[in-house]
This record gives sequence, structure tokens and C-alpha cells, in this order.
Amino acid sequence: MCCVVGRFNEGSVRPLIAGNWKMNGLSSQLGEIEAIAASVAATRPIAEILICTPATLIARAVQSAAGRIGIGGQDCHAAVCGPFTGDFSAQMLKDAGACSVIVGHSERRQHHGETDAMVAAKASAAWRAGLHVILCIGETQAQRADGKALSVCGDQIAGSLPEGATSSATALAYEPLWAIGTGQTPTAEQIVEMHAHIRQCLELRLGEEGRSVRILYGGSVKPSNAREILALPEVGGALIGGASLKADDFEGILRTVSLGIDALRVEQRTDGNCMTRVGIASDHGGFALKVTITRSLRSLGYEVVDYGAYQLNPADDYPEFIIPLAKAVATGQVERGVALCGSGVGASIAANKVPNVRAGLIHDDFSARQGVEDDDMNVICLGGKLVEAARAVELIETFLSARFSGAARHQRRLSEVQALEHEDT
Ligand code: PEP
Repeated sequence: MCCVVGRFNEGSVRPLIAGNWKMNGLSSQLGEIEAIAASVAATRPIAEILICTPATLIARAVQSAAGRIGIGGQDCHAAVCGPFTGDFSAQMLKDAGACSVIVGHSERRQHHGETDAMVAAKASAAWRAGLHVILCIGETQAQRADGKALSVCGDQIAGSLPEGATSSATALAYEPLWAIGTGQTPTAEQIVEMHAHIRQCLELRLGEEGRSVRILYGGSVKPSNAREILALPEVGGALIGGASLKADDFEGILRTVSLGIDALRVEQRTDGNCMTRVGIASDHGGFALKVTITRSLRSLGYEVVDYGAYQLNPADDYPEFIIPLAKAVATGQVERGVALCGSGVGASIAANKVPNVRAGLIHDDFSARQGVEDDDMNVICLGGKLVEAARAVELIETFLSARFSGAARHQRRLSEVQALEHEDT
């Protein structure tokens, strides 16, 4: 059985399957993104799906993705703006609609002379802009032949992963240079050894947080080898170049992940040990509450995905964070959402505008439970200025443990509400 199942049962995070289009992609290829997004909508794999397009395509790719998959960039400049002709800042990528960015890809390190320090500066800039970061490391064939693969990758982590890395904003991608675009892949033993080493480096560096940073494997992943690679311990997903350019190939890889997930679901239902993957987001009004709640929920064993804000900024506003969270709930990237702002009202208004989201502003246990049982509520909204952290966690736990009744009366009312989402206004 696929080891994706094993990792889930260990309470770890779900896989990230990311495509890297490199310097490929014209508007005529946006149909590939549409096809991938449609297949994700149909199969709803639990894996998080991302395609990193050239910067020129990001805004249109976001439209084609229709909120079903994430769109990322492939590089960013470390500065916010300035005299850097031809470069793009992390803010610009975010502004174009990207949610993530690759930094330190070996092709940038090789062809653009990017050093670990430059990669670290880019990663920090990306976090500041609110982007998730995929940080690439990997050894050359000569370094592997010299027995230096582990030390090279360890040094790259030490030099290019900045302070303050969190698992929700960071993934590490192990990409041996000799495997990229060559059709060659390391042996299973080599991948296992390297990923265990990376995990150790991350734990030494980040403590507890280092345990849940996803470690992706990249280098000639294709439908025929994805299942075997994704089944290996500590492989938390894949970074895929060539095979992400064609929807058929990429979907072949996604099917591999879905197979593991389906098996997981059956297993969880039978042993009753179902862990909920929860998304959380807030603007400045609920920022402090979000920090405390996230910590508490994680210590209670929930997998929590943070959609920002990542730092306190009194000038930010709820739509920036609540809408991505609501879309993640609507597309199944997370099972339920916790949306915060000062009063919880704005968060609830914004979340309810996203089709398939049923958000409720909750103050009491009865509504936290009944909102799910009778109305299939999938986002709980709380006021950061009104609810104490311990009470908020109680309400959230009640909400997370409740299940929709499925009763005919409740189904009927929901279909009437859902019909509105398809009405022309
Ligand atoms: C990559 O570009 O990061 C990559 C892994 O490429 P490929 O899958 O084509 O080897």
C-alpha cells in the first residue's frame, strides 16, 4: 500500500504536488491549466496542487485555475522594487495572483550564479509578501560520486533557509541536478537517505516546526514512477518539471496520489481515527487570536494550514486572507475553515461570497454544533476582539467534531441555497 497512507496516519501533512513549467508556456497553453483544474475539481485529491508558470502567465493562469489549484512563480527578486530591470519582486508575483514561489532552483543557481545567501534573501522576501516558498537544494553528479551529497544538501539548507521558517509557508525540494530533465532518478534508498537527512537538518534548525515542513522530491518524476517515489518515507510531495506541462501526464501523477488518499480514507473510517485538516486566516483584528489558536489546535493534533496574515499589519484587511481560505475550503484543499477578523462579521461576509462555502459567525456551542449538523457549515467565523483564546478553541473543537446530518430536510434547504450560486444576477 502507498506510504502516503502511512504518513497521514502518523499525523503528518498532506502531499504538495507542484509543477514547474520553467521557461515554457504561452497563452495557448492555458488549456492545460484548465484541464488540470477541472480534473482536480472532479476528483478532489487531498494533495495540494500548484503549477509554477512563467511570471508572464501568472495572472491568466490564476483565471484558468478558477481557485481549484494554486499558481506560483519560479523566482523572485529579494528587493521590493528598484532599479533591477527585468526582475520581479515577490510582491509583484503576489499581486499577479501567485500563492507560492520557487527559490534556489538549481537552474538559477547554475545559470544566474545564485548563492545560498541570495536564495535566503529571496525566501525572506517571499514570506514578507505572503507567498509560500519552495526552496530547492540538490547535489551534482560529481558531488554524489565524491560521497558529498548529504553534506552539500545540509550546507545548502544551512545557508539558504532563513530564520523564521514555518511549515505552512515553506517546503524544501530535494532535486539532484543529475536527475532534472534527464530521465534518471536516484534509487529508493538514495531518496530515503537524503530525505531523512533533510528532516534531521530541519529539526535541528527549527525544532518541532521542522517536523512538519514538507520535503518534496524533484527530478524526472512521471506517472510511471510517481507512485513508488511518493510512497517513500519523508517524501511529502513532488516538484515536477517536464511532466507538468501536459495535463495528461500531470493528471497521471495526481491519480497516483488520489489512490493513496482513497486508501487512507477507507482506513481512517475503519479505525475511526480521522484527523481534520483545518485552514485558518485572519486580518490584523484577529491576528493575535490566530497565533494562539493555531498553536493550540496543532498541539491537539489537528493539521492547520495558515492562510495569513503572517505578520501583524494594522493596515491589512480581511478579504485578502479570508477569500483564499474560503476558496481552499470550497475546493477541498482543507476540510474546514476558521476565519477571524475583529468582530468576525467581515470574515463571515467575505467567506459566504465564495460558492460552496457556508460560513457562520459563532458565539455558542449549540450553534457551533448545529450549524454543521443542520446546515453543513464549513467555516466558523470568530471575532478576535470578542472571544478569548481558550473559549475560541472550545468552539472550534465543537465545530470540527460535528458532522452534517444528511437528513432529507437539511439536504433540501442546502440545495435551495446552492441554486442561488448558479443564478445569474
Ligand atoms: C524541475 O524542473 O524542477 C524538475 C524536477 O524537472 P523534471 O521533472 O523535468 O526533471
